[in-house]
Amino acid sequence: MSGWRNWSGSVAANPERIARPKTETELAGLIAAAGKVRVVGAGHSFMPLCETSGLLLNLSDYEGVVDIAPDRTTVWAPAGWSLDRLTAALWAEGLSLVNQGDVNPQALAGAIATGTHGTGHELGSLSTQACGFRLMLADGRVVECGPDRNRDLYECQRLSLGLFGVATAIRIHVLPGYHLEERVERRPFAEVAERMDEFAAATRHMEFFIFPYSDDVIFKTLHPVPAEGAFTPANDIDEAPFRLACQVGAAVPALIPGLQRLMMRVSGKASRRVGPAYQIFPSDRSIRFEEVEYEMPRAAGIPTLKDAIAHIRRRKLPIAFPLEFRLTAADDIWMSPFNQGPGASISFHQYAPMDWRGPFAEIEKVFQAGGGRPHWAKRHTLTTADVHRLYPRTADFLRVRAEVDPGQKFANAHLTELFGLDPLR
Ligand SMILES: Cc1cc2nc3c(=O)[nH]c(=O)nc-3n(C[C@H](O)[C@H](O)[C@H](O)COP(=O)(O)OP(=O)(O)OC[C@H]3O[C@@H](n4cnc5c(N)ncnc54)[C@H](O)[C@@H]3O)c2cc1C
Repeated sequence: MSGWRNWSGSVAANPERIARPKTETELAGLIAAAGKVRVVGAGHSFMPLCETSGLLLNLSDYEGVVDIAPDRTTVWAPAGWSLDRLTAALWAEGLSLVNQGDVNPQALAGAIATGTHGTGHELGSLSTQACGFRLMLADGRVVECGPDRNRDLYECQRLSLGLFGVATAIRIHVLPGYHLEERVERRPFAEVAERMDEFAAATRHMEFFIFPYSDDVIFKTLHPVPAEGAFTPANDIDEAPFRLACQVGAAVPALIPGLQRLMMRVSGKASRRVGPAYQIFPSDRSIRFEEVEYEMPRAAGIPTLKDAIAHIRRRKLPIAFPLEFRLTAADDIWMSPFNQGPGASISFHQYAPMDWRGPFAEIEKVFQAGGGRPHWAKRHTLTTADVHRLYPRTADFLRVRAEVDPGQKFANAHLTELFGLDPLR
């Protein structure tokens, strides 16, 4: 037995075996011999999605290449590659992903399996960029699915939580390689809230971070521009003073409000840089945190964020991290929290060594009151009844799951409880 932990350290597992298959034959043998199977990408999920006492598969060494379609609008890519590796390989071929999130260690399959997203008022999550999957099912069969074949399996696989099989290759939409201009500046929250629609429309990507005890935000935009000089690696949030503030705040929580206002005063310098999209999108996030994120209907985004901040201040909750506000376009994916219209994401983080369970339970109620649905990979407390109520296609999702994996080989304790599967299988 070998131990495994997720990125934040809050999920631990003791899989019977951890394996890194390289070929289809090796993968088939491993799946056939195993009772329960989960696949892990980078282990960046906060929920126990990868937890298993059976076989834990990692596909980062799995055979495969980036195969570019003749019209260069889609590629087949190895599902287990990290976004870091994939985006560098695409850039070398003159291509970029349509959009990316905050960081890039996630496996392509891991990001798509949970509906990982970046920001952009007209841009969907990474799940919307996927247009085909090659996967190995529980019985060792290899199938492909897409909009024109095995359609129901494809609809499930677009946001699957790893319940249907092991994805070995994924076909994704790509764009000709582009450069982005990043601008980061301090702005009053009141102004950003008031002018949100105008700001959202002004650039391809807009987001902001707000410490709950500050009245200003760290406002960040990305917009395509022509290439320009050398690229300077930098972070949207300077981690050195922030780490110190987290440590001090954890030791003396009463200092958190003052520390946050001070940090915003000293980190107010505006910055601008231009670089290849795949290098501008990701930041380093080396300070461990835990996170709950709800996807709000677009119009409820700012009012709910205001409610959340008011709640934190009223209750004097010791929250060391900023909240993050992003925009995502609507989609039509069965289990996507963006499938009822354009979304506004509110991420609520807590410094990992501090208590997060109490504050998360309180803030989830605020997000739910605003009509939000949680990010599947981040902390949430949905019940099976909630899932069915919030997602009318749940019954279809579970019907397809039962067809391709009747023995529940790809289920674990969390998913069994969440979807009301048979606990005895
Ligand atoms: C620092 C940090 C920053 C983040 N930033 C963002 C962000 O900007 N936007 C956002 O939306 N989310 C963000 N997240 C959440 C993160 O993107 C998701 O948790 C994502 O699923 C992580 O990818 P992973 O490769 O680590 O997947 P894992 O957590 O390893 O796995 C996630 C799911 O994918 C399944 N899976 C993985 N590989 C396969 C495969 N080959 N076949 C079948 N199933 C598979 C797993 O079984 C599991 O169900 C962030 C998380 C962290 C820790």
